Amino acid sequence: ISHPTGFGIGSSFNSGGKIPLGLKRKGLRIVVTGGAGFVGSHLVDRLISRGDSVIVVDNFFTGRKENVMHHFGNPRFELIRHDVVEPLLLEVDQIYHLACPASPVHYKHNPTNVVGTLNMLGLAKRVGARFLLTSTSEVYGDPLQHPQVETYWGNVNPIGVRSCYDEGKRTAETLTMDYHRGAGVEVRIARIFNTYGPRMCIDDGRVVSNFVAQALRKEPLTVYGDGKQTRSFQYVSDLVEGLMRLMEGEHVGPFNLGNPGEFTMLELAQVVQETIDADAKIEFRPNTEDDPHKRKPDISKAKEFLGWEPKVPLRKGLPMMVSDFRQRIFGDHEENAA
Ligand code: NAD
Ligand code: UDP
Ligand code: UDP
Repeated sequence: ISHPTGFGIGSSFNSGGKIPLGLKRKGLRIVVTGGAGFVGSHLVDRLISRGDSVIVVDNFFTGRKENVMHHFGNPRFELIRHDVVEPLLLEVDQIYHLACPASPVHYKHNPTNVVGTLNMLGLAKRVGARFLLTSTSEVYGDPLQHPQVETYWGNVNPIGVRSCYDEGKRTAETLTMDYHRGAGVEVRIARIFNTYGPRMCIDDGRVVSNFVAQALRKEPLTVYGDGKQTRSFQYVSDLVEGLMRLMEGEHVGPFNLGNPGEFTMLELAQVVQETIDADAKIEFRPNTEDDPHKRKPDISKAKEFLGWEPKVPLRKGLPMMVSDFRQRIFGDHEENAA
């Protein structure tokens, strides 16, 4: 059988990478850019346990070695410190492209979404790898349609403070589709909605990590604006399952991957109070510019074509994140573990 990428022991190139989850097959060689980050490291855990060989490419901008350290010494795991804005030569079957400064305090002034995505698409084209882009619900901007369906084109301010991220991901989607149509690269696009769980950055300013860290540190929960804006929060293991189904499936997408359970920020604060500290105070702060008023995924498409839907509701997922945060904030000290 001819080998399109011309490399690699154990690559299942002859099946075109299309192997149903759960079936026995030889391990794939997979790059996860941003694999030392929150979502990436959980994905790496699943891929390694499935028997694949994984190369993590990360510049540690927001990622941490601690997230993947438990794989050091495993011959099927490799970690490369590299900025995807620079070209990269590797021989692989699949590319999960997650590298991105993903939180509001980190994503400004960074060309990763455009140049980094272009490089990874160039790599996919050269070696015939399948490429998955982790796009975002932010492509819908401050949506005028609710819940958001994949066919909605969005309502994005091109010159606002969030534009670097929103428009960066929109451009990344465009590049992905252009490489698909123009160069025949096999691509997949996921639009990820707000996701939380263990290993999330503690101080990156996202609402779930902020509230959990604040409640643990006995600080007031900072609610921006009137707290009536909504988001839909997905537990990380559900997302990882969705990403893997998307990669292995037959459909390009884009697919919304999110939990349709919708909460106002005040309701989220209440769940955090119930979970961590009933006496936690709430403090109102001015909201940021261009903050989307509501967000909730329509996941009918992922249900139908990927057979996927989230399993972990907020009240089940939050406690699993809290124990991780407690450990990282306080260490293992007994007195704080109660
Ligand atoms: P994260 O910040 O934990 O992970 C991103 C990783 O990319 C980090 O390890 C960081 O060091 C790395 N990185 C950033 N720029 C890089 C560069 N130029 N070269 C190499 N590595 C680089 O964030 P996350 O929440 O795990 O997000 C992963 C992906 O999912 C991102 O593409 C993000 O846009 C997308 N996403 C996440 C959410 C969410 O709620 N977590 C929502 C929508 C989309
Ligand atoms: N690229 C890369 N690794 C590869 C192949 C390409 O990083 O294995 C980069 C390459 O440096 C370029 C980008 O991907 O900046 C797009 O590559 P492509 O071949 O599509 O475009 P071209 O180089 O022909 O403009
Ligand atoms: N938010 C908040 N308190 C915080 C951080 C964020 O009330 O300490 C609000 C923020 O204004 C937004 C929502 O929570 O309305 C979600 O913010 P996040 O940055 O987590 O995600 P995104 O806006 O990208 O969906």
